[in-house]
Formats: sequence, C-alpha cells, structure tokens
Amino acid sequence: MGGDDSYSTTAARRLRTLRAEHLTPATRPSSSTRRATQVHAPVPIDLDALDYIEASAHEIVAHTYTAVPTAGPAPRTPEALYAWAEEVTAHLPAEKQQIRDALTLRQSLEHALHAGDTAPVTAMVRYESCPNPTCRCWGLMWSRADWVVLCANRRCHDTVGLPTRWSLQEICERHVARVAALQRTAT
Ligand SMILES: [Zn+2]
Repeated sequence: MGGDDSYSTTAARRLRTLRAEHLTPATRPSSSTRRATQVHAPVPIDLDALDYIEASAHEIVAHTYTAVPTAGPAPRTPEALYAWAEEVTAHLPAEKQQIRDALTLRQSLEHALHAGDTAPVTAMVRYESCPNPTCRCWGLMWSRADWVVLCANRRCHDTVGLPTRWSLQEICERHVARVAALQRTAT
C-alpha cells in the first residue's frame, strides 16, 4: 500500500500526535524570575506513554528483523519505523506483508487510543464481521474498559456465557485481509 492514507503513514501520523501530546514539555512563561523558581518542577513528560511508545517501536523493529534478518539499521525516530518496515519487507510474499500491515494497523489504532481517540477503532470494528464461523454477525463492539472487541450477538458467547472476545490484533488481521482481497478484485 502507498499514498497518504496507507497503514504506515497513518500509524506514523498518529504516533507523532501521541508524542506531541505526551512527550513535549509544556511551554511555559519564559521570564527569568519564573524560570528560577522552576528548578525542581516536575518533568511534564508522561513516562507511561514513553514506555508504551518504546514497546511499540521495539515490536515493529523485532517483527521486521524476524521477517528480514538482513534489513539495515532501523531509523531512530519512532515515526519513521513504519515506512522503513514497509520498505524493507516490500519484496516479501503478500501474506507476509499482510501480517506487517495488521501489526502496523493495530499499533496505529493503539496510538489513537492512547491519545484518547476511540473513533478509529470504533469505525474499524463496525466494518468487520464476527470471526466466529457460526456467528459472522455485524455486531462487533470495542470495549473501552477491557481493550478488546466483543460480539454483541447474544448467541455468540464463550463456554461460561460471556460475549465472545477478540483481540484488536485478530480484528486488524481480518480487516487487512478483507481490504487486500477487495484490492485484488478491483485490479
Ligand atoms: Zn459473534
């Protein structure tokens, strides 16, 4: 995939937004008297977000080197990792590229969630049917509380009667596979 709305460019854009929101020290009045009193001011950087971004970057880098051990050095800027991963795996078979795209999409949605934006994930699950072969209904919902996708069909439940749950990764894989199939038939 290429263009401005590819999985990788969207993921990079959302990561940039997240970093800007959580990791940029807030701008403060620059008067020298005020600055002098701020020697011990807390660092306005969200360490949880920093950990999260580091883990995401590590995951995409590890996945890329597993797929292509000879890939050159990864970029240092987290936002640049997605384009790099896409570029160095572009020669792989379509199904391997879909795995990369699903990972990129999942991270992309997680970046939005960490930035407080549930709209992208809510929109995606609405367009995917339940993966349960005996269900396949269009009632998937994002659970903000549990960070999982739930099936709203009351007849679609697990062994203890709770709604069937799907990980975000599972639904992303389904989404990427469906979009790829649509693109194949369109060309
Ligand atoms: Zn279901």
